[in-house]
Amino acid sequence: MLNLLKVKQEICDIGQRIYNRGYAAANDGNISFRISEKEVVCTPTQICKGFMKPDDLCIVDMEGKQLAGKRPRTSEVLLHLAIMKARPEVKSVVHCHPPYATAFGVAREPVPTCILPEADIFIGDVPITKYAIPGGQDFADTILPFIHQANVIILANHGTVSFGETVEKAFWWTEILDSYCRILMLAKDLGRVHQITGEEARDLIKLKEKWGKTDPRSSLQNCDLCANDVFRDSWKDSGVGHYAFQPSSCSDDSVGANIVDPDPAAHAMGETPEVEALVKAITDRVMDALKKQ
Ligand SMILES: [Zn+2]
Repeated sequence: MLNLLKVKQEICDIGQRIYNRGYAAANDGNISFRISEKEVVCTPTQICKGFMKPDDLCIVDMEGKQLAGKRPRTSEVLLHLAIMKARPEVKSVVHCHPPYATAFGVAREPVPTCILPEADIFIGDVPITKYAIPGGQDFADTILPFIHQANVIILANHGTVSFGETVEKAFWWTEILDSYCRILMLAKDLGRVHQITGEEARDLIKLKEKWGKTDPRSSLQNCDLCANDVFRDSWKDSGVGHYAFQPSSCSDDSVGANIVDPDPAAHAMGETPEVEALVKAITDRVMDALKKQ
């Protein structure tokens, strides 16, 4: 039988980890756990996730109507319920604003795959939603196209949402994603990022399948596995596109030595195409002036 106090305590413990990791400033973020077919425990609104007590938590029905709790429930519970309704095996949802993963949502940059084996096995290709004002049903609906093919989703210009059978597992996917995004940025600062080959990526997917996990990339071939193709159809609508990280080209035979960023020096300095054009125009003028001397 479910121990409600234990569930509430686990939500408080994960809340503390979220706050301590810097994934939720002030009162940001929210956590939920389904305790029955019709009831969900969730965090209240306007509370720091690092200092919650079991008594602070709320219980809502599957439409978000509050059934218990002295504090009003989080305004973002509709996002949690949308996931639980579509995925009955999901028991817990974690939403927060981890800075490195959120940066990809602000840049609308797909998180490259085929770089760290753990990230490929546990999270794979990560979708980025279309932007919507947080809190309402329209916002909750932005995740619907992706929930059957992912366990963590980046919310455009907002944060992340991840889900699993326990509160801890739901949190893990966020933690793995944010740590991965941080490593990507650090490696990019060093100048270049190597992808593993399509063949090596295929081996990781096989390993994942051996552990009973499916991967939507399993139908893709060779280097398409590493090209962020799974959610590409949604990019036009959500303004997502490769800019900072270019996947290795399918025609590139230098397998194992592919450079993801074709112009790391420019991008490492944060230059935009406009800045690059300006630098070229100035250089051209200087060269003209020198020729006239
Ligand atoms: Zn939020």
